[in-house]
Amino acid sequence: MLKESGYQQMVGAELFEWMRKIRRHLHQSPELSFQEFKTAAYICEKLSELGISSQPGVAGTGVIAEIGPAESDWIIGLRADMDSLPIVERTGLPFASTVAGRMHACGHDGHMAMLLGAAAILRKMDLTGRVRFIFQPAEESGNGAEKMVEEGAVEGLDAIFGGHIDTHYCTGNMTVDEGIICAYADPFTIRLKGSSGHAARPHEAKDSIVAAAGLITALQSLVSREVDPNQAAVVTVGRVQAGETHNVIAEEATLEGTIRSTHPEARSRLLTGLERMVLGISSLYAVTAELEFPDFLPAVCNSASAAEVARKAAAAVISKENILSQGPSSLGGEDFSFYLQRVNGCLVRFGANVSAETGPAHSSTFDFDEAVLAIGAAWYAQVVLAFSQERVSL
Ligand SMILES: [Zn+2]
Ligand SMILES: [Zn+2]
Repeated sequence: MLKESGYQQMVGAELFEWMRKIRRHLHQSPELSFQEFKTAAYICEKLSELGISSQPGVAGTGVIAEIGPAESDWIIGLRADMDSLPIVERTGLPFASTVAGRMHACGHDGHMAMLLGAAAILRKMDLTGRVRFIFQPAEESGNGAEKMVEEGAVEGLDAIFGGHIDTHYCTGNMTVDEGIICAYADPFTIRLKGSSGHAARPHEAKDSIVAAAGLITALQSLVSREVDPNQAAVVTVGRVQAGETHNVIAEEATLEGTIRSTHPEARSRLLTGLERMVLGISSLYAVTAELEFPDFLPAVCNSASAAEVARKAAAAVISKENILSQGPSSLGGEDFSFYLQRVNGCLVRFGANVSAETGPAHSSTFDFDEAVLAIGAAWYAQVVLAFSQERVSL
């Protein structure tokens, strides 16, 4: 049981219940990236319950809403993501997904509920500036944030803040860090083309599978031999597709993978190394090789000043000793990074551990402690207050 903290004073039982209903409703009706039509309509409906008008259809299924005085010299952005995952839910929860093969298994249902909760708190306040609520589609796939930026979501913003539920931490803890907290993600596709032939007469063919196997093994030396061991990095080949049957040499092989890195220097060495090896494999095995990098994701890099605002807000919501550091950067990616390329900001993590039996994020048994809804809503609201005070003191 958590002791009475700042968030409990900001979020009463009635508001908490409102958010919990929203979370459960959204949890039951998950939609995939860029298909969040019902989700968007529901968010607009809840905003209008609060007397806040909204703009749907941003980047397809995104929603933006603003509150505060029409004339003001600052605007702050608060972001929640909206999409679910292609997972069959096995939590057995009474409010489990009712859509086959779709599940909110990353906590985005909670993020939407807490941002709506923050809107409910903030609309009653006498704001000196404007707050833009950004509900963004397609965080999981498709880089929805990039499209939101293209459609003007961060236009005029002085800062942007976001948070992600993280069940590695107990409810009542938050992590706030400056610098890189989520990795650069460079997905890649490699296409190798040889020529087909009889499995028993390899000298008449050019085997793309042997070339692919050689390349996959060689790629593993990129991290171990070319990157500073103090700079975390990963090269994973997650998909290999080649061949039709056991006795025909495969003409083509396709490899899909991702490079994750947390230092610009490591990233550049890995990309150069990958290109060199793909080029080299064609002369080594007499196949042709093509390399593509679709959907690059920048690293999430929190600015020091925004992290300070995030920390002050967290201190008002949970006690100071419950503000943690996540330690080294995660090797996971987060498209919040696209906002941070344009505007100062900070992404934090909200602890929400339920029990040891609950699966991790992106698993079919994922769940989180709903008490985090109050913490998240209170933190978003406090961020706005901390930001406006910071500006006054500048
Ligand atoms: Zn996720
Ligand atoms: Zn997520």
